[in-house]
Amino acid sequence: MEFARLADRADAIEAESADLETVALVADLLAEAGEGLPVVARFLQGQVFPAHDSTKLDVGPALVHETIARAAGHNVTADDVEDRLADVGEIGAVAASYEFGGQTGLGAFTRGGDDALTVGEVDEELRALAAAEGTGSEDTKRDALFGLFNRCSPSEAKLLARLVLGEMRIGVGGGTVRDAVAEAFDVPLESVERALQVSNDYGLVAVRARDDGEAGLNAIDLQLGRPVQAMLAQAGTATEALEAFGEVVVETKYDGARVQVHHGDETRVFSRNMEEVTEALPEIVEFVDARLDAPTILDGEVVAVDDAGDPLPFQEVLTRFRRKHDVERMRESVAVELRAFDCLHADGEDLLDASLSERHDRLRDLLDEGVSTLAVADDADAIAAHEERALEAGHEGIMLKNPESAYTPGRRGKNWLKRKPDVETLDCVVVGAEWGEGRRAELFGTFRIAVTDGDGYATVGKVATGVTDDQLAELTERLEPYVRTSSGQDVTFVPEVVFEVGYEEIQSSTTYGSGYALRFPRFVAVREDASPEDADSLNRVRRLADR
Ligand code: AMP
Repeated sequence: MEFARLADRADAIEAESADLETVALVADLLAEAGEGLPVVARFLQGQVFPAHDSTKLDVGPALVHETIARAAGHNVTADDVEDRLADVGEIGAVAASYEFGGQTGLGAFTRGGDDALTVGEVDEELRALAAAEGTGSEDTKRDALFGLFNRCSPSEAKLLARLVLGEMRIGVGGGTVRDAVAEAFDVPLESVERALQVSNDYGLVAVRARDDGEAGLNAIDLQLGRPVQAMLAQAGTATEALEAFGEVVVETKYDGARVQVHHGDETRVFSRNMEEVTEALPEIVEFVDARLDAPTILDGEVVAVDDAGDPLPFQEVLTRFRRKHDVERMRESVAVELRAFDCLHADGEDLLDASLSERHDRLRDLLDEGVSTLAVADDADAIAAHEERALEAGHEGIMLKNPESAYTPGRRGKNWLKRKPDVETLDCVVVGAEWGEGRRAELFGTFRIAVTDGDGYATVGKVATGVTDDQLAELTERLEPYVRTSSGQDVTFVPEVVFEVGYEEIQSSTTYGSGYALRFPRFVAVREDASPEDADSLNRVRRLADR
């Protein structure tokens, strides 16, 4: 396909504001793109290279302005280009406002003089340009770009300038191209979507859809070295997880940086944005190389750790992640380790459709350490206990996952929930308690909490979580003088002590006197400054419950 045709269609697409019409225009263009199809599918979105490809064009505005000036004629300078840019505000319109083509120079003759540019040729030139490295690479880039602009009509120049500066903005995103591929080649949208998530390559997907249809799309597999979009999590509560999954997988939420590790003949590490970060993390490569001997793709988190192996704050990881220089020196001061929590491919087998439980089993078979601990819980207390342990160990929190779920790349689905911290707290009066069990028999274990209701108190729940052993001892000492009645394990208190309590939500309930129950109540602190009259009221609980 000629580059001029793409430029002409890009103008038409930009002028169209209705989504469906835009998809139809893009579909027509893909259908007629011929050999240029993979390039057209990317260029329309302003993507010079596939998302999984870490090649960078590395061309800045100054170089583009200078090149446009040079291609526009002897009396045009980069300053003129910048003045026009200040006036019109957009590089495409500026590039289209000059007449190119009359210039001679190194680049002008490199590619067949007056011949019409094709999209394939532009793609090739831009790849060559990106590959230029080292001394003189700036000149090579300038000449290559000049060669291209010099052969451009105004509308081609507009497209080229926007493309190289990453400023396409014609209203075509990944979703439009996905829909257009399905429409143009009459293949199911879901197959296109899945193929895109697995490959991150719009060009490849468009070509497969056209040439091999649905079967071709479904046959797109994971490939070592080509990162998959990471599965993402939504904020959610323990209650939601229990209701949706029944049994919930509880995992530590590590406070580090997401990585996808591809191990084959070589080991490569990619960031969440699919950028390659292998060079920056030699320990991760060494760790994996020492343990894996078959093709594998792992998903996990890189964390910074202290000498004892305990987690350090996220900021420490950042001093290592993406680092290009001084990697060995930095390695001495901040150590990083892998915490793998998923396995997408093991020994020649794609595992995206396997259940989380199975994928995690495979992961454990592969690695003897550096694997997340996966616990299964079926009630809120167990989840709370895991969370407490995770927080105490210095981690960020917990993830709640559906043990039966497949790995859905790129989706912020409901199968992975990051536990949302309590949104609000209530000040509640402690009206009763139960003695603990076992080694905690001398301490109160569960506290009955209430809100004010007129002159009295109305119970809203029991708090057993969020309290460390030390705190329990302190609270027992603090509350014992107020014991009013005692029967078996159970005691009641003279209302005196006020707890600040976190919770996930308030539900109607017949369990407690108030008619409401806090879901997932957690001890936050003793409100030393508050007396029982200052505690929250039943009216407030009602209002919060109705929200
Ligand atoms: P957020 O960045 O707050 O959206 O939380 C999701 C991120 O938590 C993921 O992208 C991972 O980088 C990170 N994470 C840490 N531990 C886990 C885990 N066990 N499972 C999944 N993601 C995790």
